Amino acid sequence: MINNLKFTADTILVGDGTHLTSSVIILDESGLITSIDKLEDHDPSTVQHFEGCLMPGLINTHCHLELSHMKSKIPSGTGLINFISHVVKFRDVDQKIIDQAIVDADKEMFDNGIQAVGDICNKVDTASQKSKSPIAYYSFVEMFDFMNPKMTDQFYKQYKAVYNDQSDEGLNKKSMVPHAPYSVSPELFDLLAEHVSADQTISIHNQETPAENEMFVHNTGGFLEFFASIGMPIDQVPTKGVNSIIYALANMDPRQKTLLVHNTMTTAKDISDAQDWSNQIYWATCPNANLYIENNLPDYQIFIDHNCKMTIGTDSLSSNWQLSIWEEMKTIAKYKSYVDFDHLVTWACKNGAEALGYSDLLGTIEVGKRPGILHADMRYKTRETNIQSATLTRLV
Ligand SMILES: [Zn+2]
Repeated sequence: MINNLKFTADTILVGDGTHLTSSVIILDESGLITSIDKLEDHDPSTVQHFEGCLMPGLINTHCHLELSHMKSKIPSGTGLINFISHVVKFRDVDQKIIDQAIVDADKEMFDNGIQAVGDICNKVDTASQKSKSPIAYYSFVEMFDFMNPKMTDQFYKQYKAVYNDQSDEGLNKKSMVPHAPYSVSPELFDLLAEHVSADQTISIHNQETPAENEMFVHNTGGFLEFFASIGMPIDQVPTKGVNSIIYALANMDPRQKTLLVHNTMTTAKDISDAQDWSNQIYWATCPNANLYIENNLPDYQIFIDHNCKMTIGTDSLSSNWQLSIWEEMKTIAKYKSYVDFDHLVTWACKNGAEALGYSDLLGTIEVGKRPGILHADMRYKTRETNIQSATLTRLV
């Protein structure tokens, strides 16, 4: 048949930790996988052969596309609270510069093999690019009220308007989400709970810095000082002497998919408490951003030991050198070399697609899906396996 694409490689990574050999992927012109056959059943001259691995498009479960103009603007290694203070300053920039940076960052992600993005937004700046992008965007419109019930209604109305105007055309989706445990009052959590349905994914930043647990456990620390310095003193921390994640989950709905982002300070007990609370917990790790902001990485072994559904995010260009899940995978492989390559692929493909509700179409190389096809010029599981020097190229 004309127009059909037939690809084979030494190894086809399915995206769920398994792989195929001596197989050919057949796609129609729209990128839909129509068949996966034995290589021997096809005339070799009709099949494109690649050395190394083929894999599905990657899923970026945490980004802030609207902060793309802040690339290289914020000093690295100064900690989350300093970082947030800088981000606030760089919000006031010529709209043309912001818009162009969004277009460029969207293209960068697609060229880097990214197929879907969980994208945090506080503004509608990204809506127009999302509606025409080849990437599927799940927009998480983020709400916070600095834990100040007097401000809850005002902030809620402001961000509800952003939510209404955010793109949910085509494959795009959207939901309203809490920013982080330390910035959302019980009153705002209640308002959010009125506007969610069980099929949505809810994202929340979690335990990115030690100050977060300190605020809830001891009622002290950098966040209380920071909020006071911007005229938002917290009258009452709803602390029960527990880690921040416990406060957040107590105010959220276990029937929804919950995507916890960062988790650098998360303990084994936090993980088992969260997984007891819901079987729909997903964990997003953003290693390059963690290194950029806090000079720290999560202890992945405890997440692996608890069979956590791990996913990978880039965070934004304000806290990263590029937007590439492949580069995040390299960083994990380099600094936490006990994490198996098959795990990394599952985190970046199948789990990410599941977390964002795209697993019917994306995340694995299976008949009936349109996951995008990438080529990595690296040998699978041999002594030459070296993700660090491998190049990723998008074929479809
Ligand atoms: Zn973030």
